[in-house]
Amino acid sequence: MSETLKRAHNFNAGPAGLPLEVMQQAQAELLDYKGTGMSVIEMSHRSKEFEAMINEAEADMRELLNIPANYKVMFMQGGASLQFSMIPMNFRAAGASADYIVTGAWSKKAVQEAQKLGAVHVSADMKASNYATVPESLDLDPKAAYLYYCSNETIHGVEFFKEPVPPAGVELICDTSSDFMSRPVDVSKYAYLYAGAQKNVGPAGVVIGILREDMLERVPENMPVMLDYKVQATEKSLYNTPPCFSIYMVGLVMKWIKKMGGLAGIEARNMAKSELLYKTIDASGGFYKGHAQAASRSRMNVTFRLPNEELEDTFAKEAKKLNMIGLKGHRSVGGLRASIYNAVELSDIEFLVQFMKEFQTKNG
Ligand SMILES: *Cc1c(COP(=O)(O)O)cnc(C)c1O
Repeated sequence: MSETLKRAHNFNAGPAGLPLEVMQQAQAELLDYKGTGMSVIEMSHRSKEFEAMINEAEADMRELLNIPANYKVMFMQGGASLQFSMIPMNFRAAGASADYIVTGAWSKKAVQEAQKLGAVHVSADMKASNYATVPESLDLDPKAAYLYYCSNETIHGVEFFKEPVPPAGVELICDTSSDFMSRPVDVSKYAYLYAGAQKNVGPAGVVIGILREDMLERVPENMPVMLDYKVQATEKSLYNTPPCFSIYMVGLVMKWIKKMGGLAGIEARNMAKSELLYKTIDASGGFYKGHAQAASRSRMNVTFRLPNEELEDTFAKEAKKLNMIGLKGHRSVGGLRASIYNAVELSDIEFLVQFMKEFQTKNG
């Protein structure tokens, strides 16, 4: 590593920072991937090198998440946002209704897309709390095609630490884009879960979908080919040109997670990071106010406010001068947000916390 390399304290919400050693390996292999004389960017997606690479990325992910054998892993395009449409198109039969839990901006968007194509029943909408908590109870339709939720609301900073439980016979589907592989999960509880890579496990451009095989029986005939999970699953993500480089990067991140002690190791690290930050917020005597209620506080996106918007602006600007990037909250909710995904180091949080204390002393 060059002495002058100055990496940002990267608190971006996504795309977000990747582990330095992953970036360095990508750099080292950029011009010549494993003696091929080519970059992964320049390589056929039908080559044996590419096939070995994508298979290994999948195998490592299966091992880390303990994905049962009757689940397919798909690498898709269109962002997590396209999944909002694909899920009802593939899994909600004509005339059927699906249950949705609304805990923030992303689950709300999913509802909006699903409503365009058929019936939706909202099992809970946490709007009254200003999306500060997950629901305590759900209004569940026992005939629903599935129950959909978002395990971590990236914008509001609200996370589920226990899966909602659907009625018997109703399948569970989850948007886990912003807490994917940040902790262990029991995949067998889900019919389908998916995540855009650009929060925790790679660059933008690829969405990972993990699907229980029998769900493919629900897929209607004559789906537009790129929106058809059956095609994505049976063609092993290679129906058309996949986002080769993004998949390669996800593969490198899988190796890094293994080195960090797997998902248990990653979870311990993420807990230490988020606890330090929330502790600082709580110890500020009300100068910093966390947005989410304590039991639903996201370990990935820490949302908080200062006494006024002017101070929030100053905070973000001064932090930026110190190379802390991405702390301004999403434009739709304001305030501040520190996104502290897998790649963020405890030392980044320590640097931020030190700044927060100094900022309060100066402005409190
Ligand atoms: C970022 C994000 C999305 C949207 O992802 P795109 O890849 O931009 O479509 C959806 N859901 C959640 C929870 C997200 O964090």
